[in-house]
Amino acid sequence: MALRKILTDADPALHKNCKTVVNFDKRLHMLLDDMRETLIESGGVGLAAPQVGILRRVVLVDIGEEILELINPVLIETDGEQEGPEGCLSVPGKYGLVKRPYYAKVRAQDRDGNWYEAEGEELIARCFCHELDHLDGIIYTEVMERYLTDEELIFED
Ligand code: ZN
Repeated sequence: MALRKILTDADPALHKNCKTVVNFDKRLHMLLDDMRETLIESGGVGLAAPQVGILRRVVLVDIGEEILELINPVLIETDGEQEGPEGCLSVPGKYGLVKRPYYAKVRAQDRDGNWYEAEGEELIARCFCHELDHLDGIIYTEVMERYLTDEELIFED
């Protein structure tokens, strides 16, 4: 495994549409392993392949008990609404106020190509939406209402 460099917002790779994964091979597994290590090292909640310069539809989301590998993910159900702070490893040191569904369900393939479904509320739903947006070249700063000020960044636990 190896750490991959996380690209920042200015990089054109973050603004492109990612391609569908068709080969569930060793190369994909290596990418997933590297992304997992990079996500853990960064302390983030999710990581999308374009953030490490790979324009493929692959994201990882840390749901607490495990890190989900979502390949070719599609949002199949959402419910409710939440508005809250959101950050991105590719936009270091900043947070924005973003509206997202309160609940989200995704359908995705695992590293062997098997389809499965995953769902979550609050932070997990927010993360699914945020990471899936990356695959369409969308950064949260393009959908946020505004950046949060330093005073607003003192969150309560
Ligand atoms: Zn992000």
